[in-house]
Amino acid sequence: MSAMRVANVETFIFTVPRDTPYLGPLGPGERVNSRGYVVRKGNGTIYPTVDRSVVVRVTADDGTVGWGETYGICAPRAVCEIINDLLAPELIGRDPEDVERIWDDLYGLMRVRGCFGGFNVDAIAALDIALWDLRAKGRGVPLWQLLGDRRRERIPGYLSGLPAGSLDERVAMARKLQAEGHDAFKIHTVVSFDGIVEEATALREALGPDAALMVDLHWKFDVAQALDIARQLAPLHLQFIEAPLKPEDVSGLAELARGSAIPLAAGEEWHTEYEARLRLDRDAIAYIQPEMGHTGITQFLRIARMANARGVVVAPHATIGVGLFLAASLHASSVIDEVWRHEWQHSIFGRSVRMLDTDMAYADNQYVLPTGAGLGAAPNERFWEYAEFVG
Ligand code: MG
Repeated sequence: MSAMRVANVETFIFTVPRDTPYLGPLGPGERVNSRGYVVRKGNGTIYPTVDRSVVVRVTADDGTVGWGETYGICAPRAVCEIINDLLAPELIGRDPEDVERIWDDLYGLMRVRGCFGGFNVDAIAALDIALWDLRAKGRGVPLWQLLGDRRRERIPGYLSGLPAGSLDERVAMARKLQAEGHDAFKIHTVVSFDGIVEEATALREALGPDAALMVDLHWKFDVAQALDIARQLAPLHLQFIEAPLKPEDVSGLAELARGSAIPLAAGEEWHTEYEARLRLDRDAIAYIQPEMGHTGITQFLRIARMANARGVVVAPHATIGVGLFLAASLHASSVIDEVWRHEWQHSIFGRSVRMLDTDMAYADNQYVLPTGAGLGAAPNERFWEYAEFVG
């Protein structure tokens, strides 16, 4: 293994049009704005009407290429500018072997200016994944070998969302997917226009008692409202309720955890161990949902291990993109002690793997870990039809 140094950093915006927006058709009062975004009335959050992420290519001085990916959902050029203007000049010349220290150094550049998350840490996450990819490729081994002892080659998954326009159509979609062998389903209540309890009840009746059923509340409620919903949902034997409160309400989450009969899951929007620790210290959650596109590998592992040490189970989040961050998430998930299931974005997974050189797969309700060197996933020629070089 020869020492390598980072020689070049490039950013790309990956965009794929969709027929139906993520989370399902537009609801009452929802419209697409002049930049192609829609604000979901259910939680006041802005979403694009395309699938989009930011991809980075980090090239070492020996020609080895590392790939990373992060969020490009909104204002993707902001992420690219942070990488190209702020982070890349500090990364050039560094040794990928120092990747964990590099994460700390890059985060430290802007911490006293309050950049504890958001676009800034997304940008670091993309570079972190690319550095880990480089480091593993430099040794010619799959990434997981650098991360710890492998606990599993297949990572159980669960199906995220039922993107159809009405409750009847969502129930029919769930029945069809169950008939195909799927056994775990998560409801996206931001589009539960017929009522959350009504939707969860209809799905439990349709799927029977053995299916795992989860309800993502999309940060919509205050503590009193969430306690009321948890009480109404309690007879349905849910695996968890997810993201019940606004992200900032740390004490509220702990209060809800004490009062809810259903376990709580949260964490997809957190970027760092510092954010996770605030909630873990208060025993606020039973499941933690790190998102590789926000955390990178370095923070994913620190968060997951901190959670496991406190008896909290890891259930990784899966966002929308080409899937480089998904490959990274599978490698990390393969070495974590206590993983329940990894989210599976069934509406885009098949498309993603066709744009990558990878043997990453999903079969029998399980992800199959890619086997090649590094991430075991890299863009192929189809990817470039949807990629724009930024800088
Ligand atoms: Mg969620």
